Amino acid sequence: MTPPPGSFAGKKVTVVGLGRFGGGIGVTQWLCSQGAEVTVSDRAGADDLAGSVAQLEGFSSVKLHLGGHDPDDFLQTDLLVVSPAIPPDIPPLKAAAQAGIPRTTEINLFLQRCAAPIVGITGSVGKSTTTAMIGDILSRGLTVHVGGNIGKSLLCDLEAIKSDHVVVLEMSSFQLEATEAIRISPRVALVTNLSPNHLDRHGTMEAYARAKQNIFRFQNESDLLILNSADEALDGWSDLAPGRVEFFDPRGEAFDLQVTGGHNQVNAQAAWAVAREFGIDRADAAEALRDFKSLPHRLQLVADGGGVKYYNDSKCTTPGGLIVALEAFEPRTVIVIAGGSDKDVSFDEMGAAVARRAKALVVLGTTAGKIAAAVEKSRCDPMPLIHTAADLQRAVATAAELAGEGDIVLLSPACASYDMFTNYQQRGDQFVQLAARFAAGDRQWQGQ
Ligand code: ADP
Repeated sequence: MTPPPGSFAGKKVTVVGLGRFGGGIGVTQWLCSQGAEVTVSDRAGADDLAGSVAQLEGFSSVKLHLGGHDPDDFLQTDLLVVSPAIPPDIPPLKAAAQAGIPRTTEINLFLQRCAAPIVGITGSVGKSTTTAMIGDILSRGLTVHVGGNIGKSLLCDLEAIKSDHVVVLEMSSFQLEATEAIRISPRVALVTNLSPNHLDRHGTMEAYARAKQNIFRFQNESDLLILNSADEALDGWSDLAPGRVEFFDPRGEAFDLQVTGGHNQVNAQAAWAVAREFGIDRADAAEALRDFKSLPHRLQLVADGGGVKYYNDSKCTTPGGLIVALEAFEPRTVIVIAGGSDKDVSFDEMGAAVARRAKALVVLGTTAGKIAAAVEKSRCDPMPLIHTAADLQRAVATAAELAGEGDIVLLSPACASYDMFTNYQQRGDQFVQLAARFAAGDRQWQGQ
């Protein structure tokens, strides 16, 4: 049940999932500004959420119920605003649904109120990079607001967003799954690619694709869907679109980029396809793309020392992401660190790519054994050395030890981080610290 847009003055609202990525914080701040009585419920404790809690300082009316969900917060309320990261089948949410408590999400509240045309970006990989590229290019000629799954709620910017501005919104499959309830799709929808991801939550590839298709399912005839012309997984999607369909060619005329890897050319082509629709000319787009810098944790050069370069690709949480990262470097120069929590996706194709291209592999986390087995299945000559590490510190120490002059140490986990870290940022930040120490020649941690 989804409530219509309306006044929140005096309404009791429970925000389920404060999180650390901006959505829960933004919606809490915005609901307070609308006069709602807000309770925040999160399974994580105050220490884990310290950074997010700090951003609610000054919002003294908010009740923080952290460290576990109190069923009453889900039942004694006028509205639940549920984080897309929370599985819909957790018991207190099920009980609230049975009791008929209305629920919505941060992104739905925004979609129902945004005055500007929205460019929505989704895909299995490359969403944030493409979103940021589109934001940079469109800013050359327009007033642009960039947000969504990239880590910024735009709800508090609603008043500043005018009808002649453009909103560039990264949308995850979890966010899109919930838009079905309000039947709103962005005016321009871009799907960069589709490969198996988050199947632990969506169950099947069909369910995952169906969630992604909500980015265009509710478009009007005059709206636009842009698809990757080379991605077979998107075959047939154009037939489902209610509006116009365009394709971008991932192998289109190359742009001059600072960011590493062929995949970033693909992201640039996708961004250009959107910019073109807004009347930006290619020279302006090319200039913006030339200035574009890697977002943190995406194939980012973070240390260089002893002849070895260290790249942080902690945001790589899919097998496909690791394959493209490997392809960004010369064969047999990369010592790759991979592994993390399990999303039930196959590592076979990735294993073959690691066997073919990597110099060595260091695995860690829940999927360590699965990844090592996938690589061992591929018979290549030479085979990369495979090591297992108990934690990231030992993994970087091992990789640094194996790396010679001209080699690359690459953290590209191909998995989520939740088995050993709070999130991919924490994993990446830890890697950056370790990389700096090893690049500076600090060997004291080795063998610990
Ligand atoms: P997302 O927001 O979809 O997670 P990001 O732009 O944050 O995507 O990039 C995350 C990782 O995905 C990158 O570090 C890289 O490994 C991989 N990646 C990015 N763009 C692409 C692409 N076009 N094709 C394949 N892999 C990509």
